[in-house]
Amino acid sequence: SDLAGNAMSLPVVLATQLAALCVPAYRRAQKRDPSFALPTVQAALPSVRGAGAVDVAAAPATTAAPAPTAAELQTMSDLFQALLGLCDEAFASSILCTCESSGGTTDAEVVRCRHCWVSLCRHCTKHFATASHTLETLPLSARDPTAFERRLWLLAPMAIQLDRTSAAELERTATASGMPAIGDLSHEAFHLQRVVRERGSWRLQYTTQVAQLRISIGALGDAKGVAALLHSFAPTLRGERGAVPPVARLLLPSS
Ligand SMILES: [Zn+2]
Ligand SMILES: [Zn+2]
Repeated sequence: SDLAGNAMSLPVVLATQLAALCVPAYRRAQKRDPSFALPTVQAALPSVRGAGAVDVAAAPATTAAPAPTAAELQTMSDLFQALLGLCDEAFASSILCTCESSGGTTDAEVVRCRHCWVSLCRHCTKHFATASHTLETLPLSARDPTAFERRLWLLAPMAIQLDRTSAAELERTATASGMPAIGDLSHEAFHLQRVVRERGSWRLQYTTQVAQLRISIGALGDAKGVAALLHSFAPTLRGERGAVPPVARLLLPSS
């Protein structure tokens, strides 16, 4: 790679080295006390991003395969490509049963209906009428919502712009709804506002003054992939109430 000699990449290199230095200390602490964690990481993440401290905090999550840093991701297309590789993990760490709605993961097996894709855990099947569903066990890898949320905060750039490909794709599905032309939005920076764990997927929420971009990663019906829904603030600014339907969408199934 051409990391050397590029002044912009220096903070990245330093952060990586710093992270590498911190990992052994974290491991030692965990060996002494298996319940050792970095409790402040989650709460502090949104505010410390950009301050340079975040890569250190997230070191344990990135040791296996170093994810691209936020600095390397600028456009929506790039972000989509990066997210596509995480669809399975996103789904596995999402909310898959009603008992997980307020956080955490069930310790029971997760089952899903082959026809309507509703999922729940074996514990909770007792509380629901499941006779009309064809439930199958979901093969899931390790489920760790905390670690996955941290990865998303690290991976997702603080601000993205619509590149020509994304803008064109959104434009194709756009409906007239007081929305500025999608092409005009390509000059706007969408800022990362929230990372939300949802049923079957995770949502990255980006906003500008006039619009909101909701990027979902995980289950798309019976498939997996990444979806972006563009919502206009125009109806709300006009005083209309209620949920605002998306004005444009972009879907990318994984594989
Ligand atoms: Zn459950
Ligand atoms: Zn069903």
